[in-house]
Amino acid sequence: MSETSRKVLHAHDPVHAHLVAGLLLSHGIGAVVVGDDHPWANGGDITVHVAARDAERAAAVVAEIEANRSHGAHWMCPECELFAPTELVTCPACGTLRPPRRARS
Ligand SMILES: [Zn+2]
Repeated sequence: MSETSRKVLHAHDPVHAHLVAGLLLSHGIGAVVVGDDHPWANGGDITVHVAARDAERAAAVVAEIEANRSHGAHWMCPECELFAPTELVTCPACGTLRPPRRARS
């Protein structure tokens, strides 16, 4: 990678890497997923890179996504079983509308 890009996420799951990249794009931040095409070439490491000028904003977005993930706030698409972050109302993969939250008691 060139020195003008910054790594903002280190993922082991290409689905998650692309999800984060898509969310960064939705925030107007151009993100590139690196390593998903040739996972064997770098030990299975998948990273998301952004331009250096976007690195700070991207880090904030990623931190929010990771916080949501660790709190279990994401939801599973009933159609394709992708885990989507809570801020999305439709599945990023197939466009299925998020099912209503079940109340837990
Ligand atoms: Zn889906």
